[in-house]
Amino acid sequence: MQDNRNDAGPVHVVGGGLAGSEAAWQLAKAGIAVVLHEMRPQRPTEAHKTDRMAELVCSNSFRSDDAMNNAVGLLHEEMRRCGSLILAAADAHKLPAGGALAVDRDGFAEEVTRRLAGEPLIRLERGEVAGLPPAEWGSVILATGPLTSPALAEAIRALTGEDSLAFFDAIAPIVHRESIDFGRAWFQSRYDKKGPGGDGADYINCPLDAAQYEAFVDALLAGDKTEFKEWEASTPYFDGCLPVEVMAARGRETLRFGPMKPVGLTDPATGRRPHAVVQLRQDNALATLFNIVGFQTKLKYAEQVRVFRMIPGLEQAEFARLGGLHRNTFLNSPRLLDRRLRLKVAQHLSFAGQITGVEGYVESAGIGLLAGRFLAAERLGRELAPPPPTTALGALLAHITGGADDRHFQPMNVNFGLFPPMPEQPGRRKGRLARKPALAARALADLALWLEGWRQAA
Ligand SMILES: Cc1cc2nc3c(=O)[nH]c(=O)nc-3n(C[C@H](O)[C@H](O)[C@H](O)COP(=O)(O)OP(=O)(O)OC[C@H]3O[C@@H](n4cnc5c(N)ncnc54)[C@H](O)[C@@H]3O)c2cc1C
Repeated sequence: MQDNRNDAGPVHVVGGGLAGSEAAWQLAKAGIAVVLHEMRPQRPTEAHKTDRMAELVCSNSFRSDDAMNNAVGLLHEEMRRCGSLILAAADAHKLPAGGALAVDRDGFAEEVTRRLAGEPLIRLERGEVAGLPPAEWGSVILATGPLTSPALAEAIRALTGEDSLAFFDAIAPIVHRESIDFGRAWFQSRYDKKGPGGDGADYINCPLDAAQYEAFVDALLAGDKTEFKEWEASTPYFDGCLPVEVMAARGRETLRFGPMKPVGLTDPATGRRPHAVVQLRQDNALATLFNIVGFQTKLKYAEQVRVFRMIPGLEQAEFARLGGLHRNTFLNSPRLLDRRLRLKVAQHLSFAGQITGVEGYVESAGIGLLAGRFLAAERLGRELAPPPPTTALGALLAHITGGADDRHFQPMNVNFGLFPPMPEQPGRRKGRLARKPALAARALADLALWLEGWRQAA
């Protein structure tokens, strides 16, 4: 039988980071020829130090490796079952780190680079892609990461629109709704306003009295913070989205007249307006996650947990994601991308990795894996449905391509709050601890079915 899968020429993958390396690998394993473009070492980024593929720019940890109790551990396992290059290289170079998957960063990146170089269907081309790819390249995956070169970023921005590509993230902590104490907190929109799609009770409100407010401001001011890197602080486009602790430092009443203003709200416990309020807004279509409005922060992670648990109603809060502000190039993916990671207005361009609005090494590689497989299926002339949202890969994909609110989209890491809840069943153990293994077992069973579909497609 004639093999015509490469008649349309190679697929071009731009960016040899975590996502681009994985996407190129998945394409090659499906028999598709790839040109992988990487601008280093000719053109460095502010964070990378070597010319290797899949260089880890900071921590050497892929976080928890516990597939049955942790969503990122589950994502590891799903990726292993999908033949991931990044997970294979990580497993080959893992270091002792308790329940986490930590790697020898040099050995890891060398392994990825060596395996890609040894794959006959992949050609590595060094050099910056300094604008939109030429039309003759046909299908392209853009996986240029949080530090996409300015020329390419500007071209993407010109194609997708002014407010479609961000250069900084401003991440407020996200809380699992089930961990909020509704003995203290209540649902209400300011002045009971019904806004578009709302019902007048869209926000979760946590009340603070005067003493609690003063103690909270003190804790914010005293909390241990991370600093902006010099090259982050000098980046243009940072529009002064102020961290909550910086607002607090401007005056003791600043927050009470800003994100913590209590106007238009009545605490059902007292029948009165509280002294100050912390509001949480729904963050995903499943309504399992809520973010703390206006609380982007540079407080260190442990400090965030300690300080934000001072808020009445959040004493037992479980955080799906903690806050931060970083230099980070990312698309408004829920608005721009279809379910197969293609740009709706230019379907020959797919995106992968951190630029799609996921956060983290593993998540970036996971989205690279999917982008590679989707494009491989397209080249093979087959239909490949996205992985079901009950899997870690599918939950993350569903969030960035539709589940997240495009009006407030900020990068997301994988967590169980993105998964559709298990249906209640009489006799099944309740509670968060019992739910995680059940969600994980369902994910792995559903992934097996999806992989079977892939095997038939490929
Ligand atoms: C300073 C910093 C620290 C971070 N720390 C962590 C951490 O500790 N843990 C964690 O999980 N995540 C961390 N992240 C997030 C991390 O970048 C991502 O998790 C991950 O590297 C993203 O993978 P990616 O493939 O999307 O991008 P990258 O791994 O950055 O790969 C993108 C590649 O594209 C190349 N490129 C860019 N523009 C062009 C162009 N125009 N032409 C050709 N090539 C181009 C770059 O050189 C790079 O090799 C950090 C990010 C930054 C910026």
